[in-house]
Amino acid sequence: MRITCPHCGNRGLEEFTYTQDAERTRPTDGGATPTPEWADYIYLRDNLKGPRKEYWYHSAGCHAWLIVERDVSTHEILSVRLP
Ligand SMILES: [Zn+2]
Repeated sequence: MRITCPHCGNRGLEEFTYTQDAERTRPTDGGATPTPEWADYIYLRDNLKGPRKEYWYHSAGCHAWLIVERDVSTHEILSVRLP
């Protein structure tokens, strides 16, 4: 798999670090009391197929954060942009 960084161009996967799903919504309750919403946000993950937006970090390159849209079934990269 290769990712085209907007700054560095087309690079191998080994230069990048996956960080997290970019489509999850952080709960609005920022209080100190744990809530079921926070537990779901922190611990539960859906294993969805198809195109997904993900945060990637160009750790061995320009150190840019990227939003990569990738089909997680085929690993095809659909788009790459800066957040
Ligand atoms: Zn880069």
